[in-house]
Amino acid sequence: MIEQSFPHIHIDAHTKTRPQYVMAGPCSAETETQVLQTAKELAAIGIDYFRAGIWKPRTSPGSFEGVGVEGLSWLAKAKTLYGIKVATEVATAKHVEEALTAGIDLLWIGARTTVNPFAVQEIADALQGVNVPVMVKNPINPDLALWIGAMKRLMNVGITDMIACHRGFHVYEKTRFRNAPLWEIPLEFKRKFPDIPLICDPSHICGNREMLTEVAQKAMDFGYEGVIIETHPTPDAAWSDAAQQITPTVFAQLLAELTVRKTFSDDIFTNSRLLQIRDEIDTIDERLIELLAARMQTVRRANTLKEEKGLSYFRPDRWAELQTHCSEVADKLGMNQNFVVKLFDMIHLECIGLEKEGNI
Ligand code: PEP
Ligand code: MN
Repeated sequence: MIEQSFPHIHIDAHTKTRPQYVMAGPCSAETETQVLQTAKELAAIGIDYFRAGIWKPRTSPGSFEGVGVEGLSWLAKAKTLYGIKVATEVATAKHVEEALTAGIDLLWIGARTTVNPFAVQEIADALQGVNVPVMVKNPINPDLALWIGAMKRLMNVGITDMIACHRGFHVYEKTRFRNAPLWEIPLEFKRKFPDIPLICDPSHICGNREMLTEVAQKAMDFGYEGVIIETHPTPDAAWSDAAQQITPTVFAQLLAELTVRKTFSDDIFTNSRLLQIRDEIDTIDERLIELLAARMQTVRRANTLKEEKGLSYFRPDRWAELQTHCSEVADKLGMNQNFVVKLFDMIHLECIGLEKEGNI
């Protein structure tokens, strides 16, 4: 699949030094000059897809809503002049038709569209019989099922070349991100669909330039297959998302700084050492489970005694004491106290569950 979509790059899982999927380009196509200048510079750096929004879904009316269909011809021109593949966002069946007519190579579904099954189905229906690569951004709300549902609608009409794009989620609390990454959601996606490439959009996660490298690197550390980064010749003057865009030169530096993690090592010593460590982990896990079983047995003994003496099973003060104790031990061992307390809450709940089932 990768070879098919990117015939010009040949990636060896053991030797790759850059992400498999590199996409860059402005948030929005603004003028023909801006599109061509950015495309020329990015083509020289080497990217897999040039991105530019033509139709921009904006939170408030009155913001720049994209140049519309006229911009498609600028993308087509960039494609011919610089030999790059081009990508744009579609939100309606009409967008799909117009983009395909203009020869756009990859269509993406934006976060505000992924949330709407009617809109996604309309796009899917318009793609029936057209096997174009489609990238699906995560929905703005943290809902993995909705993201997967959108992808399934596309698979159902025969789209085989799909990419999942992690652009962060809207959460009510204020965080240092524009859109909270909530890494556990895309990682669960990756676990469920290991064959669908997952790429990271640090631009929309961060909302600023300063944190882009950190987030892109984290995605690489988690084994993501690529990045999409907003790039503009004069970022401060961009008509949309100015604060997060970077120049092609800065983009090239970012790309060069990324450490891409390999899935496998070709060094037999590393592999055998890893196998040995994994064996040790498995042994520790077995011991943990044995210890947990022993703990459960001990709780049962305590409860039998309570039963005999007419004492209540649950004592909030004892539970609080236990939490404090666990937290102190965790701290001494340099562990995350929150994690340890949460873990013991679960263990405790399981004990209460046993009581409910009358097993003790
Ligand atoms: C975009 O890529 O410019 C965009 C609008 O992204 P999102 O749908 O992730 O907000
Ligand atoms: Mn944007």
